Amino acid sequence: MPRLTVLHYPDTNLRKKAALINSIDENITALADNMLETMYAEGGIGLAATQVNVQKRIVVMDLSEDKNQPNVLINPEIIASEGLEQTQEGCLSVPDYYGIVERAEKVKCRYLKLDGTVVEQDADGLLAVCMQHEIDHLDGKLFIDYLSPLKRQRLKKKLEKQDKHLQVVL
Ligand code: ZN
Repeated sequence: MPRLTVLHYPDTNLRKKAALINSIDENITALADNMLETMYAEGGIGLAATQVNVQKRIVVMDLSEDKNQPNVLINPEIIASEGLEQTQEGCLSVPDYYGIVERAEKVKCRYLKLDGTVVEQDADGLLAVCMQHEIDHLDGKLFIDYLSPLKRQRLKKKLEKQDKHLQVVL
């Protein structure tokens, strides 16, 4: 399986809106496999197709400690959300940069699995953050869009002093 190239900010392709997937064929299955391999190799817990310059609504993620629970989300959408929570986020497309982002605390996400089954999943904590972060990618949005320039600068200085191994990369 070939590893894919992850686009880095400020590549304008990261701003493209991904299209709905109409049929889950072998091209989509292969894309999912390659995205998972790329995500694992780069040390992320989630990856959206937009990040590998494919404008299709597909996301892969694995939040397990042992990296043995891959999940593939086709046409994912947030259909309900509640609460607000702040989390420090990173992104494979914004290397070595972390920022606090406020998002919904709990979400209900609807998506298709690779076998076409419709799933409605309730998520909170890191999974909820990851789903919102990755779906944003499919809409051309990056987590740094949520930060004010001043906040961005301050955070950058502060975070540069911190141990990067403690960070989460989505
Ligand atoms: Zn990201």
